[in-house]
Amino acid sequence: MVSAALSGLCPRCGAETLFAAPAGLAETCAHCGLDIVSLERGGRFVGVVTMLLALVLILAAMGVDEWLRPPIWASLVFWAPVTVGAVIFGLRFYKTMWVYHQYEESQQP
Ligand SMILES: [Zn+2]
Repeated sequence: MVSAALSGLCPRCGAETLFAAPAGLAETCAHCGLDIVSLERGGRFVGVVTMLLALVLILAAMGVDEWLRPPIWASLVFWAPVTVGAVIFGLRFYKTMWVYHQYEESQQP
């Protein structure tokens, strides 16, 4: 599942077509034509997930600052890419989980 999220595999054909942008889903699978947008529908907790993730990272950053007291530029240099990376990864992972879940639901008779 983690590798599916990292490479954005289509739940139907397994091609790497799930993401059109680093954290944005494609509308349809370019390989098999699976309608990804309709599968994503209802997955509107994405904003909440992003907020929670950002909050956890900010708290972690504040904890590290208290502990090590690094210069502010060092904090920025370290935390900016970590935050961006974690948010993008979290979104990809969450969206992949959601699309796979919806795909399995849609396969039920
Ligand atoms: Zn496909």
